[in-house]
Amino acid sequence: METTGPHILTVNTGSSSIKFSVYDMDERSLLKGEIAGIGRQEGSVRVFFSDGSICVDENTRIESFRKGAVVVTRCLEETGYVGSIEAVGYRIVHGGMKYREHCQLTEELLEYLRDIAHLAPEHLPQAVEVIEEVERGLPSIPGVACFDTAFHRDMPEESRIYAIPLEFYREGIMRYGFHGLSYEYITDALCACGVPLDRVIIAHLGHGSSMTAIRDGRCVETTMGFTPLAGLVMSTRCGDIDPGVVLYLLREKGFSADRLNLLLNHGSGLLGISGRTDDIRKLLALEKRGDERAILSLRLFCHSVRKFIGSLSAVLGGLSTLVFTAGIGENSPEIRERILDGLEFLGIRLDTERNRANQKVISDKQSRVMVMVIKTDEERMIARHTKRILNGEGR
Ligand code: AMP
Repeated sequence: METTGPHILTVNTGSSSIKFSVYDMDERSLLKGEIAGIGRQEGSVRVFFSDGSICVDENTRIESFRKGAVVVTRCLEETGYVGSIEAVGYRIVHGGMKYREHCQLTEELLEYLRDIAHLAPEHLPQAVEVIEEVERGLPSIPGVACFDTAFHRDMPEESRIYAIPLEFYREGIMRYGFHGLSYEYITDALCACGVPLDRVIIAHLGHGSSMTAIRDGRCVETTMGFTPLAGLVMSTRCGDIDPGVVLYLLREKGFSADRLNLLLNHGSGLLGISGRTDDIRKLLALEKRGDERAILSLRLFCHSVRKFIGSLSAVLGGLSTLVFTAGIGENSPEIRERILDGLEFLGIRLDTERNRANQKVISDKQSRVMVMVIKTDEERMIARHTKRILNGEGR
């Protein structure tokens, strides 16, 4: 089978999965796939065509990211897309100090990513492996690197610098911010429907959660920091925590760095508090049955989002638009309602019916702040940047 292009392949490497999509030059998605559970006993490969028909649906063990990347190129061969791919766009979580803008992939950039792997040890080594393998499968096809940190590159110094001796900032210990591709997609979507970007907060609430504040189209503050561990209470990450707690665990409890990493990244947040699950749907069900730890975990989560809406509004000097996005933000009216409860003083008035129906605008007509729900699409954003960079167009 042969499929005529030109097409763009997007590759989004997560901490245990690879998502990939094929787009045409008009940003229409033709094929979407996910290889999940990489390195675990039970993995899966699911690939769908744009009409929803299934291309591959199997449970299988995928030992490594390299093997996962081979599955991607094999899938392109089997569906006939392999010859039509003109460029590959990769999501890269961290661009370090050097790569502040999306750019064409080079050997020098790959070498840099290998050097800074310690900045995102759960993402960068895997992403590099996947790039190497996809490049082997699609030789001489140009690649574009799209960084999650790029959106935050112009944050002012007072938002960027930690109050530790300045030498550390100069060597790159600073707040970078993440989820940038999602924020870019939402910002473009707001522009497309004529919403001014004067004072906007976007709440990306998913497995990983963060928020960002945009003034006059520029990011001025965000909740994640040097790593994606900071800020909001998340599914399994602790969010903001007094560094004194970390010192205590190291000194008094004998924690090693690896054990601390497991605790703070994978055993905290909603999971750590509930002791049962990190999935909001299951926590809401447990709450109905009176499970006290589930109730507490949901209270902590909503409180932390509410607290940051307050502080980001203060940084912006007011608020005109608040957007909810990602798995929880897009799909959970209960959680949105709880977060916004008590924020009337900021000029937020929720339309309960519109919220329950997951409508695009969920604030009522009298609300001074427009509250919106917009589905994010990081893959589409990668395809957009890839086309733009290969055509030599500016932002
Ligand atoms: P993401 O990382 O954006 O894919 O978001 C994943 C998270 O979204 C899951 O861990 C769930 O907690 C949450 N989620 C997905 N669908 C729903 C839903 N219908 N209601 C509440 N939470 C949801």
